[in-house]
Amino acid sequence: MAAKSQTVEDVDVVVVGAGFAGMYLLVRLRAAGMTAVAVEAGDGVGGTWYWNRYPGARCDVESLQYSYQFDDDLQQEWSWSERFSAQPEILEYANHVAERHDLRRDIRFNWRVKSAAYAEDSATWLLTAEDGRRVRGRFCVMATGCLSVPNWPDIDGIDDFSGPTFHTALWPHDKVDFTGKRVAVIGTGSSAVQSLPHIAGEADQVTVFQRTANYSIPAHNGPLDKGREAMFKADYLGFRARAKQTVTGIHAEYGQTALATSDPDAYRAMLEKRWQEGGLTFLADFNDVLLDSAANERAAEFVRDKIRAVVKDPATAEILCPKNIIGGKRLCLDTRYFETYNRDNVRLIDIKATPIERVTETGVIVDGTLHEVDMLVVATGFDAMTGALRNIDIRGVGAASLADRWADGPSSYLGLAIADFPNLFTVTGPGSPSVLTNMLPTIEQHVEWITDCIGYMSVRNYTRIEATQAAEQDWWDHVQDAAQVGLKATTDSWYVGANITGKKRVFMPYLGGFPAYCQKCADVAGADYPGFAFA
Ligand code: FAD
Ligand code: NAP
Repeated sequence: MAAKSQTVEDVDVVVVGAGFAGMYLLVRLRAAGMTAVAVEAGDGVGGTWYWNRYPGARCDVESLQYSYQFDDDLQQEWSWSERFSAQPEILEYANHVAERHDLRRDIRFNWRVKSAAYAEDSATWLLTAEDGRRVRGRFCVMATGCLSVPNWPDIDGIDDFSGPTFHTALWPHDKVDFTGKRVAVIGTGSSAVQSLPHIAGEADQVTVFQRTANYSIPAHNGPLDKGREAMFKADYLGFRARAKQTVTGIHAEYGQTALATSDPDAYRAMLEKRWQEGGLTFLADFNDVLLDSAANERAAEFVRDKIRAVVKDPATAEILCPKNIIGGKRLCLDTRYFETYNRDNVRLIDIKATPIERVTETGVIVDGTLHEVDMLVVATGFDAMTGALRNIDIRGVGAASLADRWADGPSSYLGLAIADFPNLFTVTGPGSPSVLTNMLPTIEQHVEWITDCIGYMSVRNYTRIEATQAAEQDWWDHVQDAAQVGLKATTDSWYVGANITGKKRVFMPYLGGFPAYCQKCADVAGADYPGFAFA
């Protein structure tokens, strides 16, 4: 029998990743008459929703919008059970789409790409898996996800811990039973905000180690309102089209009030209304919160007051009150997160000034005190946006290494293509709005642009496309200029790589908004792709 490493599967397009991006790519490429395979490190589809199985994991954009729109029958037929559906239901949805479009026959699971090399003579990409399997394509599309490489914290002794350790982004498929256990939770981002209430409801004792307090807004989750579902379904195409006209791709009411100069009673009433509605659009009434420090501070203080009103112990409440600007990071959505700190079995340890000294076999030491625990939950996020691409040894023209090219931060033309890496596309790559939006429409827009581009090349018998250095530089300068507007890029966040030791600080997503970005992409496609060289 031939060794795995001797077999090369040849297709038109190799897709890396079988999350929502990779799955839709297969649908579109097939429809365009291309042969395509997706290679996927996991043993199932769904990406984010395959890996992040921690208790409480759910979407932060309402399910009616956090869903595909390319298949109108599907969006009419599918019924979400909750306003913000939980991970098992989103994964079920991903599996349903895979069945409905018969995708699995073209997905190679348990296939982690180690390297991808461009061959000049044949204008093809050869991808090699960790176990030696290979696949070759005329095009390679990286649908590897913005939040798919778990960040393991750089804490002394973490490997010495003798009990089980769970990263929220690598959660086991079987239920983790916390009953009777003492649990440490490290991190207080969205993953911890969602999981803590569940863990605390089961465990004997939970100790939370918080470095930076986060703004969290109540999700007010519950069964999906049937009236709202009917309203969407009566005009789904209209809702989707209007959502695309918003900066974040989320359909909602947006206002233009200047918070800084508003009457305090008026702005507090507006924030209160949004707080009662719940959701990511908490700040959507105002046009200056991310531009003006005074406006930002007013909104921030509103949330701090909410935290102080909920958390009974004033010292704990103060530690939980975020000191950074609001909206600098993606807001968290929660269900009884702050209330959880009123439980007798939950303790909060502030590690901002005194970081974790080390982890021992039996617990976590802070400021000379050992906090003994039986289990560690590591909710420390991701090496975002560039992690998955830099993990693969990607070699372009002249064996140029993408990891080396991006050592001082990424650059890209439109977040879609990189000079010296012909026939390679990235979905929601750095330099596109991606993580600043409802990601499903953003993913669909990229997939459609990429497959249209490949179709354009087929018609003209082009075999090679490459972003020019000049176009990439111009776009990247624009991305960085856009990031200078307002306060967002001043925050230490994973948008700038601040969560990863040694990562160069660069604002990676495009802050110019979804409509402007879509227009730019459409203009480029409509004008025979200026900024790209074809052969
Ligand atoms: P992913 O879903 O990350 O899929 C990428 C796939 O590529 C993964 O399956 C991975 O295994 C595979 N892969 C990566 N590297 C390799 C390799 N070397 N070899 C082979 N396979 C590889 N966004 C929203 O807009 N709304 C939300 O409510 C929301 N909630 C989220 C909740 C959590 C817990 C997280 C972590 C993210 C959330 N996001 C949300 C962002 C989410 O990542 C996107 O919405 C979307 O699911 C991304 O899809 P994707 O296909 O681009 O990437
Ligand atoms: P995150 O937002 O990056 O939060 C990680 C947490 O771990 C932060 O509190 C961070 O502190 C802390 N941390 C990191 N390294 C540490 C260390 N060495 N020592 C101590 N603490 C450390 O990650 P996340 O919570 O997984 O969320 C990431 C993104 O995924 C979100 O912003 C969102 O886009 C998406 N997400 C969405 C949902 C949802 O609601 N649908 C749920 C989960 C995730 P610092 O802040 O100080 O770095």
